[in-house]
Amino acid sequence: MTRWLAEYAWLPDHAEPTPDVLIEAEGGRITAVTPLVGGGAPAAGVEVLGDAVRLPGLTLPGLANAHSHAFHRALRGRTHGGRSDFWSWRDEMYDVAARLDPDSYLALARATYAEMALTGITCVGEFHYLHHGPDGRPYADPNAMSAALVEAAAHAGIRLTLLDTAYLTASVDGAELVGTQRRFGDGDALRWAERVDAFRPENDHARVGAAIHSVRAVPAEQLATVAGWADRNGVPLHVHLSEQPAENDACRAVHGCSPTRLLADHGVLGPHTTAVHATHPTSADVGLLGESRTGVCLCPTTERDLADGIGPARRMFDAGSPLSLGSDSHAVVDLFEEARAVELDERLRTRRRGHFAAAELVGAATVAGHAALGWGDAGRLSVGDRVDLVTVRLDSARTAGVPPVGAFFAATAADVTHVVVDGRTVVADGRHLTVDVPAELHSAIAEVTA
Ligand SMILES: [Zn+2]
Repeated sequence: MTRWLAEYAWLPDHAEPTPDVLIEAEGGRITAVTPLVGGGAPAAGVEVLGDAVRLPGLTLPGLANAHSHAFHRALRGRTHGGRSDFWSWRDEMYDVAARLDPDSYLALARATYAEMALTGITCVGEFHYLHHGPDGRPYADPNAMSAALVEAAAHAGIRLTLLDTAYLTASVDGAELVGTQRRFGDGDALRWAERVDAFRPENDHARVGAAIHSVRAVPAEQLATVAGWADRNGVPLHVHLSEQPAENDACRAVHGCSPTRLLADHGVLGPHTTAVHATHPTSADVGLLGESRTGVCLCPTTERDLADGIGPARRMFDAGSPLSLGSDSHAVVDLFEEARAVELDERLRTRRRGHFAAAELVGAATVAGHAALGWGDAGRLSVGDRVDLVTVRLDSARTAGVPPVGAFFAATAADVTHVVVDGRTVVADGRHLTVDVPAELHSAIAEVTA
C-alpha cells in the first residue's frame, strides 16, 4: 500500500479543496480518501504512518488533455511573424508533417508527452491523422505511426487514447487530398476501419478511439461508417467542429446545413462523441449538441493563437454538453491556463464576470476530460478510481498567498511539483524522472525543422 498526505486535496463534488487529506492506494487504485479533521489530527481509526509521502500544496486528480496533435509542438514560436491566419498556419504545419517518420515522430511525441506530464497531464487524447509515408504510401506496418505514439506515451509515463482519425478529402465538396495531405488518407472510410481494426496496442496505458477529422475531410455518406465503427467498439468518437466560419459556409454551400446538423443527420452526435472547438455554432447547433449530450472540447489557447474566435462555452454547458479541455496545437501546454481561459474568454465575450465556478473548471480539466477519452475511472480522488495525483505548489511567486480555491486562477504549469499516474510517480520536485524534457524537445524539434 502507498499513502500520500496532501496538504490540500480537491475531492469530488466539493466547491473548494479540503485540508489534510490522506490518500491510500494499492495496485494503481485508490483504496481510501480520508480527510483528517481538526487541523491534522487523524480521524478515529486512521493511523498516519511515517511512510506517507507528504504533498505540500494543492493535490488535484489527474488532468486530461482531451485534444492533442503531438507534432504541432514543433511549431511553437515559429508561426508568429507577419499577418497569417489559420490557413497559412496550416501550410507551415504541413511542412513539419512532411518530414516525420515513425522514428522521428517517436522522439518528438515522447518529448511532447513528457512535457505534458511535467504540467500535470496524466492522460492525452491524440487526434492522430499522420498515418502514412511520403506520397501516401502505407508503411510496411500501416499503423507504424500509431505504434510510435503509443510507445511515446509509455516512455513519458502518461495514458493515451489514440483517436485514429479518418481524413479522406481536402474540402467539403470532396476534393482529393494533395501534397502532404496524402499521408493522412486511407481512401475511404471502410479502408480506414480495416486499418484501425488491425491495431491493437497491448499496453494497459493506451486505448484506441476514433475521430472524424471534420466535415471537410470525411464525405457525408461516409460519416456513418466511422460513427458506426466507434459505436460497435464502444470507444469515444471525436470530431473538429466549426472551428472556422469558412467551414460553416462551405458546408452550407454543399449540403445546405450547418456542420453540426450534418453530423446529427448522419448519427455522429451522442454522449460518446466530443466536438472539438465548436467555436462558431448557431443557436440550433448548441441545441443539437446539448440535447444529444455530445461533449465539447475547448482549446482556448489554440483558438486564441489561430485567431479562431471564442465559442459560447456557458451556453453549450447549460444546454447539456460536458466541457473538456485540450492544448491542441501546443502553442501552450498548460491546462491551468486553458481552464481559466474558459471563464476569462467568456468575460471578454459578454463583458460580465462570474460564469463558471472554480470546481466546474476543475471538472473540465479532470473528470470530464478523462470521460471524453473513455477513461471513466479516472479524474476524481475517489475510492476505486485510478491513482492519478497532481500536486501544485502554493508557495511559488505566483501562488504564494493565494487561497487554495483560487489556485486555478493563479497557478501555471510550472507550479506542478509532483505527478503520479496509475500509482507510479512520474514527476517529483518538478522534474520528470526518466526524460530530460527540454533537451529532448530541443533535439526532436531540430530534427524536423532543420
Ligand atoms: Zn485539432
